[in-house]
Order: sequence, then structure tokens, then C-alpha cells
Amino acid sequence: MKRHADLIIYLKSKGLRMTPSKELLIQFFLDNKNRHVPIKELYDYLNKSIEDVDRTTIYRNIEKFISLGLIQELDLPRVGKVYQYVFDKKIHHYYICKSCGKVNKGNAALFEKIEKALKDIHDFSKANLSMLFYGFCSKCDSSIESDTSI
Ligand SMILES: [Zn+2]
Repeated sequence: MKRHADLIIYLKSKGLRMTPSKELLIQFFLDNKNRHVPIKELYDYLNKSIEDVDRTTIYRNIEKFISLGLIQELDLPRVGKVYQYVFDKKIHHYYICKSCGKVNKGNAALFEKIEKALKDIHDFSKANLSMLFYGFCSKCDSSIESDTSI
């Protein structure tokens, strides 16, 4: 697969040492680009192909992939940590409701505003806008407000 090969060349240029488990994980993320993948699924997948995969190796690989901007970690209420491929995606910011756990993807208009603000305020450009906002969705927020007597 061409994409896979290109990505591996890039990662090697960043000093990543390729191993069979890293190659499998990269392919897995490419094949599941639009999903949030829990660690258990990564573990089960590797376990099918490689014998004696230990979780420490997977965590180490994942940390490395995050630091290289290949994937992003999201900590979802009730679900726990999940991982998503973000490498060549322009928008990958999410709003996550701390109450009901609903995950919403940020939209392009907001992305452009943030990009412009970064440039105007910090003279900073081409940022990798990988952001997570934890808060309350409108549904949960209104139920919280009705509980408080001001
Ligand atoms: Zn909510």
C-alpha cells in the first residue's frame, strides 16, 4: 500500500525504528482512520498476528506515535482512553461532554478562527490543531443549571 509506505518513510526520517508491531499498528490506524480505537482492540489485533505481545510495548509505541503526530489520544468519559489517526487530517478537535460522554467533532469555521487568532495574537502559524475540549453539552448543561438555585 502506497500510503503506508510513504508514512513509514516519513516516520523513519523522524528517527522511528520500525518493528513488526509498529508496522502493524500503523496499518491498523490507516485502516481505521475514522474510528476511536480503544487500547484493548489494538492489543487484540496485534495478538492475532504476533505472539507474546506485551502491553508495555503497545503503550510505548502509542506514546511514540502521539509524539510524532500520527495519532491522538482522547480520554472519553465512561469509555476511557481511545486513539485516533490524525496525521494528515486537517481538523481533529473534539468537544467531549463530561456528563453524558458525547463526542462532537469541531468544524472548519472554528478551526479557521483559532488559526487566525494564533497568528494575530501569537504570530504563530501552521499549528497542528489537535485539541480536546472537555465541558458540558447543551442538554447536560441545562440540567445542571436547573439544579442550582442562584
Ligand atoms: Zn452531555
